[in-house]
Amino acid sequence: MLEEKLKHIIRDVYDFPKPGIVFKDITPLLQNAQLCEEMVDAFVEQVKDCKLDAVAGIESRGFLFGMMLANRLKIPFVPIRKQGKLPFHTISESYALEYGQATIEMHEDAFPKGSRILIHDDLLATGGTVVAASKLIEKLGGEIAGYCFVISLDFLNSQGRLTRFSPHVFSLAHYK
Ligand code: AMP
Repeated sequence: MLEEKLKHIIRDVYDFPKPGIVFKDITPLLQNAQLCEEMVDAFVEQVKDCKLDAVAGIESRGFLFGMMLANRLKIPFVPIRKQGKLPFHTISESYALEYGQATIEMHEDAFPKGSRILIHDDLLATGGTVVAASKLIEKLGGEIAGYCFVISLDFLNSQGRLTRFSPHVFSLAHYK
C-alpha cells in the first residue's frame, strides 16, 4: 500500500531545524522514480472530482510534486514563493509563525479571475502556510478547489482550518 511505502521511506530528522522539531525529510522519496510516479497517480485519483484550472505549489518542497501533478493534469502550475523571490508584480500575504511572521507572494497575473486552484505543499502541520496561500488566491479572485499534501500531521488537527475554504483536503501519508 502506498501510504505504508511512503512512511517507510520518509526520514525523521530529529531537532531540525531547531531543537524539539521532528523534520519529515522527503528527499529519499525523490530518489525513487517509480514511487514518485505512483504518488502522482494517487494525487490524480484523489483530485479527480475537483474540476481544476491550475495547481499552486508552495516554495520550495511544494514545487516538486506540484509541478509533476500540474503537468500530468495538463494544467498550469503557479509558484507561491517567499517574499522577494518573484521577479514580476506580486501580491502578498503575511501570517504568524511560532516566533515572528512570514510573508508569501504570488504574481498578480498568476491565473484568470474565477480559476479553480488546487493548493499543494509537501506537508500540512499547523495549516498557517496554506491558509495564507488560500487568502492570496482569493485576493486574486481564485476559488480554492482543494488541497493535497504528501504528509499530514493529523495529530495537530489542522484540517478544520482548511475546510472553510474547501471540503477537499487530501494527503498520501497520515501521522495520527
Ligand atoms: P504549517 O504552516 O505549520 O502547516 O507548516 C507547513 C510548512 O512548514 C510546509 O511548507 C512544510 O514543508 C514545513 N514543515 C512544518 N513542519 C514540518 C516538519 N515537521 N517536517 C518537515 N516540514 C515541515
